[in-house]
Amino acid sequence: MHTDLSLALQIQGMDLRIRALTREIDGLPKRIAAVEARLASHKQALADTKAVLEQNKKDHRQLERQVDDEKQKISRLQDQMNGARTNEQFRAFQHEIQFCKDAIDAHEESILGKMEEAEELQADVSSAEASLKAESTKVAEDVRRAKARIEADRKEREQVLASRSDLGAKISPGTLRTYERIRQARGVAITPVEEENCGACHVRLRPKVLQDLGQLTQGVITCESCGLIIYRPVEGSDA
Ligand SMILES: [Zn+2]
Repeated sequence: MHTDLSLALQIQGMDLRIRALTREIDGLPKRIAAVEARLASHKQALADTKAVLEQNKKDHRQLERQVDDEKQKISRLQDQMNGARTNEQFRAFQHEIQFCKDAIDAHEESILGKMEEAEELQADVSSAEASLKAESTKVAEDVRRAKARIEADRKEREQVLASRSDLGAKISPGTLRTYERIRQARGVAITPVEEENCGACHVRLRPKVLQDLGQLTQGVITCESCGLIIYRPVEGSDA
């Protein structure tokens, strides 16, 4: 393989690396947002559980007020009952008082239920707080790692860009132009020959093309089918 083609191939390797690094760098805000969204769902779970517990406490207070109301009513009724003039009136008050007492029993039963529920909800809140705390630590670590990765990517990209610029000064301008034109149109510009086929479009290359490729000392040869620059990989080499 002549120098120009080997330089173009090295430039392509760098361009592919630059592209991969740029994708990773550009994807960072999205990745961080996804990581932070994990935290948001934990915060929401905690807020939801706290809201249910808050409602439970409100219900509990409301029930206690109702019990107090019934007790006051009973005390008023008892006063009135003491002044009753007939047995009928007396029994009517008695009946009303019993009605209030039944209501108190029902409210107190509900209060017990609320208290049991509150105990479970408090446990839920505690575990939601614990898992939010654990997740916060993990998220902070993941964000830190993602940012460090991007920092490393940026540095590497700088280095690769600098090396690419060095090689760009060494390669012949004609070959570089051809390479750039194909790369911009196709994403990649150079493909190896595999057996007797183009490595990109897999069309079988004409014997003359293969012969020319074997004797190539300058410039480049492109696949007649897909237009990519073709080269014969050197045996036992990665290039
Ligand atoms: Zn091809």
